[in-house]
Amino acid sequence: MIKPKYPDLRNYIDPDTPTVKSDETSHEGYFVPEIIFTYGQPKSIIKKILTLLPTILDTLRNVFKSYKSIRRNPGEASQLPGDGLFDDFKTLAIKLHCSSVGFTEIPTDMIFRNREILYKYAFVMTMEMRREAISRAPGRVAAGEVWRTYHELGRVVNRLAGFLRDRGYNAQAGPSLGGDTNYVRLAQKAGMGWTGRHGLLISPENGPCQRIAVVYTDISLPFTDSVDHAWIESFCSSCGRCVKKCPGNAIYQEYKKLDEGGRQYIDYKKCAVPFSQTLGCSVCIRECTFTKGSYDKIKAAFNAKAQG
Ligand code: SF4
Ligand code: SF4
Repeated sequence: MIKPKYPDLRNYIDPDTPTVKSDETSHEGYFVPEIIFTYGQPKSIIKKILTLLPTILDTLRNVFKSYKSIRRNPGEASQLPGDGLFDDFKTLAIKLHCSSVGFTEIPTDMIFRNREILYKYAFVMTMEMRREAISRAPGRVAAGEVWRTYHELGRVVNRLAGFLRDRGYNAQAGPSLGGDTNYVRLAQKAGMGWTGRHGLLISPENGPCQRIAVVYTDISLPFTDSVDHAWIESFCSSCGRCVKKCPGNAIYQEYKKLDEGGRQYIDYKKCAVPFSQTLGCSVCIRECTFTKGSYDKIKAAFNAKAQG
């Protein structure tokens, strides 16, 4: 069986094009289809995959489109944002069903090992996975929602990259499926939420029920790093529901501190088995306290308890 491979930026640019590279503390990146084919049981899903096959194939087609469309960049483009650029970008993203939009600079350790990107800034977008569908995980309905979001957000970031190019700016779409950078850490840095014990972003809008994608650019918009949602880390320490409910026993009791620095929350090899058997598992998302309740209410209760 042929194993799917994530596109290599180098195949889409001239050899002398400058890029922003990962560093020695960067972590390995994972491409969902590649993990399933390496560690999961891909044969077990062939029958189940048939109804989702058109969506999966079009999602992959859009991933390659994100790289091919780099050739349409103006190159010697302005790096100064015009009036209202961020607001116009955000308005379009929300119109295209994104839930939230942030902007940040990308530290090189957030670029996956041996990967590179064209620009050092990123617009970061989240898109909701409907809670009603995720509440039926694992199975066909939740899997359909997972792949609907990968697909739709993959198309949206290509549209948003086109929007920037039409205004004379450089852009590189980072699809929702796969990616060259750690989207959860970028979204956290941009103040859009915090990493939960399951390694996923928990946001005020969607809890963990979302996918994330980015558009890289060299436009120097103002940004501030945020720790607004850091309280979630203490909350997670006393919760642990996702750890108990994970069918693959894949979520670490305590995140693993990696030798090169940084954290790993789940064992991807263990996750790949239920993930591939059910086309996207999502039990940790279904079971998360932030899926079952609202962010604001959980935060208010947490603060009240902390104050005695
Ligand atoms: S997707 Fe499923 S197997 Fe993977 S970490 Fe979440 S609950 Fe565990
Ligand atoms: S289930 Fe609990 S421990 Fe796990 S991520 Fe959600 S809030 Fe944190």
